[in-house]
Order: sequence, then structure tokens, then C-alpha cells
Amino acid sequence: MAEPCDRGATPSGAFRRDAAPLEPSGGSSRTAGATLREARGLLRDRFGYDDFRPAQASVVEAVLSGRDTLAVLPTGFGKSACFQIPALLRPRATLVVSPLISLIEDQVAGAARRGMRALGWTGATPREEVNEALERARRGELDLLYLAPERLENRAVCDRLREVGVAGIAVDEAHCVSQWGHDFRPSYLHIGRARERMGSPPLTALTATATWRTRREIERFLGMEGAIRIFVPGNRPNLCYSVEMAPDTREAYRRVRREVAACGGASAVVYARTRGLSARLAIALSRTGVPSAPYHARLPIERRQATQRAFLDGSIRVVCATTAFGMGIDHPHVRLVAHLGAPQSLEEYVQEAGRAGRDGEQARCVMVAIRGNRRRALPFGRRERPRPGSRPPGSDRVAIDAERRAAMRAYIETADCRRAAIAAYFGERAPLCDGCDNCDRTRAAPAPTRVAPAPTRAAPARPPEASVRKTTTRRRWRSREGKRAGRDA
Ligand SMILES: [Zn+2]
Repeated sequence: MAEPCDRGATPSGAFRRDAAPLEPSGGSSRTAGATLREARGLLRDRFGYDDFRPAQASVVEAVLSGRDTLAVLPTGFGKSACFQIPALLRPRATLVVSPLISLIEDQVAGAARRGMRALGWTGATPREEVNEALERARRGELDLLYLAPERLENRAVCDRLREVGVAGIAVDEAHCVSQWGHDFRPSYLHIGRARERMGSPPLTALTATATWRTRREIERFLGMEGAIRIFVPGNRPNLCYSVEMAPDTREAYRRVRREVAACGGASAVVYARTRGLSARLAIALSRTGVPSAPYHARLPIERRQATQRAFLDGSIRVVCATTAFGMGIDHPHVRLVAHLGAPQSLEEYVQEAGRAGRDGEQARCVMVAIRGNRRRALPFGRRERPRPGSRPPGSDRVAIDAERRAAMRAYIETADCRRAAIAAYFGERAPLCDGCDNCDRTRAAPAPTRVAPAPTRAAPARPPEASVRKTTTRRRWRSREGKRAGRDA
């Protein structure tokens, strides 16, 4: 089995892709170059942008060539366009595997606003509508069909999709294959098999965060070894990371409320470990005059949708959520993402924290970890017990999960640059840091005093205030020093 050859970011920080030459899709008379021109036209007409970013163009080109493609693009990079635009250029429908009902509904509505013919299948979709969608797909009147991975476990559905013809499959939020497939969403591990049953249409997997291990699992379980890989480093310079340790939940609670108060009237998302905690926090914030609402899987879907709408239109300022909130929700002006307790892995943390500052403006990502009870403080209260038989033979999930938790703990406990710690976890070069609590502390600390050999001729020690009245140049210099220290650790 071929191993992934990803080596992380290029020295210039630009995206990279493997060197496999692109070939026109099987049987197509159009070259990838010609269709990329058409894709640019659609980007202008449907999305209002003049041109793709270079990495986006590479993904679109790879998808149009008919090759399997794995794209790791940071949050806010425009992943949807990478599979929606090729879908418009194909005669048959493209299936989009999406993890959440709210996300499916959101994306179908968004695609319809851009003039695409899109439908979504959720667990509640009646049989008549399923048949209607298949009929439309057969007649070539459907561009995008969104569905949850569980739908593809149904062999009859796969057989019917094969009959009507599927131009391609896009797996959105593909990190879910690795993150959820082994536990409570085993259907993610069966997408590869379903794809074979549908006649092996080309597959595109997209995610914002993936370590080399996650990328390898995505390729393995989706049956896409040999895929074109496109990888953009995930550093978001506008996000400021910080971690606080609280002795208990009550204190963690208090600190999160203080953080929310400190971000003025701006929008914020608070992730809590449990549904009860998210509900209590929403009530407590509302009582202090901050319009807030809870969001978790047990709430009725109508209420979750209402919360989402109210958050987007600004009538709710803070959403107190479990992990179920935020994936794919395009709220550009979130200024704070706070975590009450730590997620299970740094991948989850970066995904969730990445929902801050999508507009490119400064935003804070604060984690309040709870000291003392590691079992409660580290993994969130998520379902950890796998279903019997859900683990593939030979995989060492216990060791992998332990490794992920250890990385999360190391991130919490590090005294070095947090941005560098995140970059190292994802196999990237440490970026320059202008915003993390540890680097800020290093910059604010008094400069070290030079000790001369002879006391009588010693140079006067630099006064501590000098480090506060620093110039921009000095701040940058120290930032680099802090980063270097982080890298050396
Ligand atoms: Zn830093």
C-alpha cells in the first residue's frame, strides 16, 4: 500500500500538491485546462469572485480531471466551490456526503441561492422524495445530492444510484472518517465500499484539518490511495490562542463568562463538555443580559435551526454548544470561541476554534481547561465506547486515542508558542506568532539582564519598562525568538 508522501507546507508557506500529471477525465474530449476556464466563468457568475485562489484552482482542476482528490484547505478557504463548480460542469449529479442534517440543509439552501439544482436526503426524507430525487438525477436535472453517510449503508440506495449514474462523490468534512468513523458513525468507514457498489465514481475528500494519520485513514477508508493531494498550511494569523487552567468546573464557568463579557457585544461560541453544561451556561449568560442559547443534539431540530438563524442574524450573541454546532456555518464575525473543558484531540480543537474570525479580523480562541480531574478535564463527555465490531481489524484505536489525548494535554501544558504546537501537530513548519498567551507573556517579560564579569564595569541593567515600550520591530524580533523557542522545545 502506498504511503502518503505529504511533507507539510512548502518552505515558502504556499500550498503543495503531489507531482502526478493531470490527465483529462476518461472519455472526455475536453481538456482540464478548457474546463478550468469554464469553471472560472461559473465562479464569477455564481460566487462573484474573479478567480480561484491557486490551491482552489488546483483542486478544481484535479476534480475535473476525474482523479481522486484529497484537499486539506483551512477554514474559510472556499472548500464548497471546489466540488460545487465541477458538479455544474458534469452531466450527472454529484453526491455530497455531509455529517450533519443542519449542514445538509444549510448547504442545499446555499447552493439553491447560487442557482444550482440541489437536494438533500436526511433520515426524515420520505420515500416519495427519495424516488423523485433519483428520477431527477436520471434525467440529468440535478447537480448536487447531499446525504449523510448512513444513507450509503443501504445497498438498494447504492444500486439505484448506480443505475441513474453518479458523476462523482465529494466527502465534505472528511476528517469525520477518522474522528467519528471508529466510534459512533461507523458508516464513514463504509463509504469506500458504497462507492465501489456505485461503479467507483471519482471521489473528492475535503477537510480543514488533518494530521498525516488522519489523511492516511481518509485515503484508506474511502479507497482513494493514489489520490492527488492538495494541502494548504492551516495557520490563521488573525486567531489568538490562549489556555487557562481552572481548579474546578465552577471556576471554569466563571472564567468563560468573563471572556464573553470581555469581547463586548461581539458574537461568540462557547463549547462545553456536556449538554447540561451548555444549557446552564446559556441561562447564566442570558441572565446577565447577554442574549444566548444552547445548542446540542438533544434539542428539537426546529429549535436548533431557530438558534442558528438567530445567531446568524445577530439576535443571539452567544451560542453555548456541544460539538454539534458550527460545522459549515458561515458566520464571519465570530470574535471569540471559548472552550469550557478540553476537547478529545487537538484536531477537534483546531476545527472548533477555527470558527472564530472567518472574516480575517482579530479573534480569540480561549480554552479553559479544568485541573485536577484529568478523566473529566480532558476528554469531553462524548460517547467513547465503540460499537461492537466497529473497529477495523488491525487498527490500534486505543493507542491512537491515547496519543491524541496526550497531544491535547501537551498543548494545554506547554509554556512555548501554542501556534507552533498546533503547526507541529499537523506536521507543518512553525509560523511567525503574533498572538498566543505564551508568546505574549514572553514579550511582556523583562528583558534578561546581561551580567558583566567585573561588577565595577558592569553595564547598567535594562529597566523592565523598556520591554513594555517596545517598537514594532522589536516586537517582531521577539515574536520570532518566542517561536524559535517553541520550535526547539
Ligand atoms: Zn505564540
